[in-house]
Amino acid sequence: FVDIKNVRKSFANVEVLKGVTINVEKGEIVTIIGRSGSGKSTLLRCINGLESIDDGEIRINGEVVHDKATDLRRLREKVGIVFQQFNLFPHMTVEQNITLAPTLTKRVAKGEAARKLAHEVLSRVGLEQKIDAYPEQLSGGQQQRVAIARCLAMGPELMLFDEVTSALDPELVGEVLKVMEDLARQGMTMILVTHEMNFARNVASKIVFMHAGKVHEQGAPAALFANPATPELRNFISSTH
Ligand code: ATP
Ligand code: MG
Repeated sequence: FVDIKNVRKSFANVEVLKGVTINVEKGEIVTIIGRSGSGKSTLLRCINGLESIDDGEIRINGEVVHDKATDLRRLREKVGIVFQQFNLFPHMTVEQNITLAPTLTKRVAKGEAARKLAHEVLSRVGLEQKIDAYPEQLSGGQQQRVAIARCLAMGPELMLFDEVTSALDPELVGEVLKVMEDLARQGMTMILVTHEMNFARNVASKIVFMHAGKVHEQGAPAALFANPATPELRNFISSTH
């Protein structure tokens, strides 16, 4: 479903992605782990076309992301991305935040249909009762769940998550991970960068360990954590305990 082939990407003269190849099947949960600066966020941003690439190819459902003919706006409706910072509009209610993009793209009509959509995606993150709240009235965990609901409102076929729990107080991390686990169970295809090793171990179908701009190791979580083949992964795992 997602074919990442030999992708290279430099900033100025620094090569950040040095030939990355990853395949993701429909319904798979792929977790990307690795040290700070190893290129994890850059890779996610390349996948939905927020960054250009210098070489290689990324296909989503057969469509070449970095082809001139590709309509990136339409592609991004199919590929949602959620960041560490929730980026909700503070002057808009939860409903307005969620329905802004889908009404602009005419995925849904304004008014009753939009409210129904907001209600539906909020129920998937357990926040129907907050539909008329403003972001400042919500906890960080609730705001991040709204950001996920906003993403769901576009009807994505693939979701990218970049350290979505890293800015949260520890006691709020679990509720966001639970939402992601539910999405995984419902069959959503997901690629996520996380430091939550237990989540990676329990939910991921595949773990990709990035090191120095390359896929250093990848495999099923149990095998990878039990038998890291390289000293780099061994060191990384022990640094997360
Ligand atoms: P972290 O775990 O800290 O989030 P990461 O694995 O996500 O790290 P990236 O954010 O992808 O790493 O960055 C990889 C390298 O690319 C870093 O050295 C970073 O400084 C550099 N880099 C990222 N974005 C840019 C940019 N827009 N301009 C220049 N350099 C960049
Ligand atoms: Mg990052």
